Amino acid sequence: MTGGPAELVSRTPEELRALLPEVPAYRVGQAFRWLQKGARAFDEMTDLPLSFRARLAELGHLTAPTAARCQTARDGTAKILWRLSDGQGVESVLMRYRHGNTVCLSTQAGCRQGCAFCASTVGGLIRNLTAGEMLAQVTGTAREVGVPVSGVVLMGIGEPLDNLDEVERFVRLLAHPDGLRMSPRRVSLSTCGLIDGIDRLAAAALPLTLSVSLHAPDDGTRTRLMPGNPGVSVLLDACRRYFKATGRRVSYEYILLRDVNDTEDRAHLLGRLLAGTPAHVNLIPYNPAGRGEFRPSRPDQVRCFAAAVASHGPSVTCRRRLGQEIDAACGQLRRQIE
Ligand code: SF4
Repeated sequence: MTGGPAELVSRTPEELRALLPEVPAYRVGQAFRWLQKGARAFDEMTDLPLSFRARLAELGHLTAPTAARCQTARDGTAKILWRLSDGQGVESVLMRYRHGNTVCLSTQAGCRQGCAFCASTVGGLIRNLTAGEMLAQVTGTAREVGVPVSGVVLMGIGEPLDNLDEVERFVRLLAHPDGLRMSPRRVSLSTCGLIDGIDRLAAAALPLTLSVSLHAPDDGTRTRLMPGNPGVSVLLDACRRYFKATGRRVSYEYILLRDVNDTEDRAHLLGRLLAGTPAHVNLIPYNPAGRGEFRPSRPDQVRCFAAAVASHGPSVTCRRRLGQEIDAACGQLRRQIE
């Protein structure tokens, strides 16, 4: 765990009990619940004796990032820039859907994957976030915006599979019956395609949704967009292994970039590659506030692309463009405090 023993929010009840052998188990359970609810001060833990609160403060610290900035769009999408305890900035986005509110959160400060369309990778990877820092984004976003959160998407700054130990810890804490009780089925993990990580995730038996950022069906285009591309066929093989091990359909994210990856022949190639395996393709309109090199596809091209992919069998949706006026593409806000 990167946060060390002092970071209490990342601890399971068993780990807290081991750190506090002199404290009755039910008291440790009460402290765990406060930590998971996102308490920002030990004084908030009003049902704990003062002496126990003092002991906790002596033992470690609370993970309470401060909201350095919060922008809200007309459609209710809210983007929050968090300043972490060491001054690093990460972003979370609250997205409002008919079925509930979802937080898109960051798993790393910076990213080393180098995707050409992504602002988060400018400056490389600074450090991994702890499970507690991920949890604090969920509880903090709910508190800042004043709404309940029923889903989590690991699609903010960072590559979750590059920080899998902490991500796995986070998902297990999130589901804990004495914590936020959010099932892994309400969690979606988005990866640029780290093969070892996909295989490890398949073995971890967490029923979350694996979402692969594919963005091109051919290696030439994909490597240009995503320099860590292991090869499209290698990646799709790993996805098939994941489906075989978990029985869970893989989602494929595809940012449509005008004249780069949005031609009809690429749509048919994508459809053919995914035919025969349960797959869902989510087409994402490019947010042009990014690095300037790309433009979004025209609406008629988006429709044409979607129809061509669907003609081979995969289900296809086109993501609604949320929070357009607040630069909701990840990594853009963070750079404003650097
Ligand atoms: S798209 Fe994701 S994996 Fe790629 S550079 Fe951005 S944050 Fe990293």
